[in-house]
Amino acid sequence: MKETPRHLLDLDQFSLIERLTEAGLERFRVDQILGWVYRRRARSFDEMTNLSKTLRLQLAERFDLYTSEIERRQTSTDGTFKLLLRWPDGATSECVMIPQDTRRAVCVSTQVGCPVGCAFCASGLDGLERSLTSGEIVEQAMQTYLQLPEDQPLTHVVFMGIGEPLANYDATVSAVRTLNADWGLNIGARRITISTVGLPRQIRRLAEEGLQVGLAISLHAPNDELRREIIPWAERTSIDDLVEAGRHYFDRTGREVTLEYVLLGELNDRPAHAKQLAAVARGMRCNVNLIRYNGVSDLPYRRPGSEATHAFLEVLRKAGVNAHIRASRGMDIEAACGQLRRQRGDL
Ligand code: SAH
Ligand code: SF4
Repeated sequence: MKETPRHLLDLDQFSLIERLTEAGLERFRVDQILGWVYRRRARSFDEMTNLSKTLRLQLAERFDLYTSEIERRQTSTDGTFKLLLRWPDGATSECVMIPQDTRRAVCVSTQVGCPVGCAFCASGLDGLERSLTSGEIVEQAMQTYLQLPEDQPLTHVVFMGIGEPLANYDATVSAVRTLNADWGLNIGARRITISTVGLPRQIRRLAEEGLQVGLAISLHAPNDELRREIIPWAERTSIDDLVEAGRHYFDRTGREVTLEYVLLGELNDRPAHAKQLAAVARGMRCNVNLIRYNGVSDLPYRRPGSEATHAFLEVLRKAGVNAHIRASRGMDIEAACGQLRRQRGDL
C-alpha cells in the first residue's frame, strides 16, 4: 500500500482536496488552509484561527506542517544568511538567503550530499546520503521566508544548493510547481532557476513540463577532456549533447540558458579556454555566468585574481558572448557557491 504522506508541504492543491474531502471537509477549507500556510505563513495549525478547534486538532493528527528544526543560523557581513535544518531522520540540509536591493533570493538544496562529486565542490565530497522530498525542498524556502519581516516576501528561488536537482527529478519539479502555483508561494517561473551539472535527457524532459523556469548548465570546461577531469558525470555525456539539449530547452520554453563556468586558477581560466568557451556558447541562445572559485578547505584549487577573471570576460565579450561575473556572497559563513556541505554528528 502506498504510504500516505504526512508532510503537508509535500501535497499539491489537488491531493489536499482529495485527502480532505475524503475526510468530509468542504472544498473552501482547503483554500483557507493553503492561504494560512503560504500567504499568512502560519507555523502551526493552531494559528489557523478561522478554523474550529476540532478541525485544527484533526489536521494536526493527520499532518505535519513543518518537519525540520533550525539547528543553526549564520549571518554574513553582507546580509546573506544560511540555515542548517535537521530533518526527523537526522539528515541535514543547508539553504541560503541572498538579499540584494529589492530582491530576496533563496538557494535551496535538493539532496543530502551529492552523487556527482565534482572535484572543486564541497557538496559532493562525502557522496549522497539521500534525496530530499518535494515537501523538504519547499520547506527550505518556507523556513527562510519565515525568517524575513512580513513586508519582505521571497522574490526568487534558485536550485543551487547541495545536490543535483535533475538526479532528483520528480521532487524537484513538484517543488517548482508548489513554489510557482497561485495557491502556493506564487513566485513566477521566470524567477525560479534550476542549476544542473548537465543531464541531457532530463533537460529535454524539463522542457516539456510547461514551466518557464530558468535553466543553468554547469559547464566549467570548454572541452570534454578537461570537463571529464573535474566532473565525474561528464563521462556520461558530451558538451555537444549539452548544447543540443540547451538549444531544445530554448526552443520549447523561450528561455535563454545560462552556462555556469567556475574559474579555477590556471586550470580553466586561460585566454585559450575563453576562446573555446566562446565557440561553445555561440552554439545556442545563452549567457555565460563566470564564478570565481570559492575556497573549500582540503581542496587544492585556486581562486583566480581579478585580472585573469576580467581578461577571460573580455575574450568572451569580444567574441560576442553575453557574459557576466557572478559576485560571491556569504563567503565568510561558507554560504557561497560550492561551499555548502553535508553536516554530520555534533556541530
Ligand atoms: N548540482 C548542481 C546544483 C548546484 S549549483 C550544479 O552543479 O549545477 C552550485 C553551483 O556552484 C554550480 O554551478 C557549481 O558547479 C558551482 N560550484 C561548485 N563548487 C564551487 C566552488 N568551490 N566555487 C564556486 N562555485 C562552485
Ligand atoms: Fe554536485 Fe553540483 Fe557540487 Fe557537482 S557542483 S558536486 S553536481 S552540487
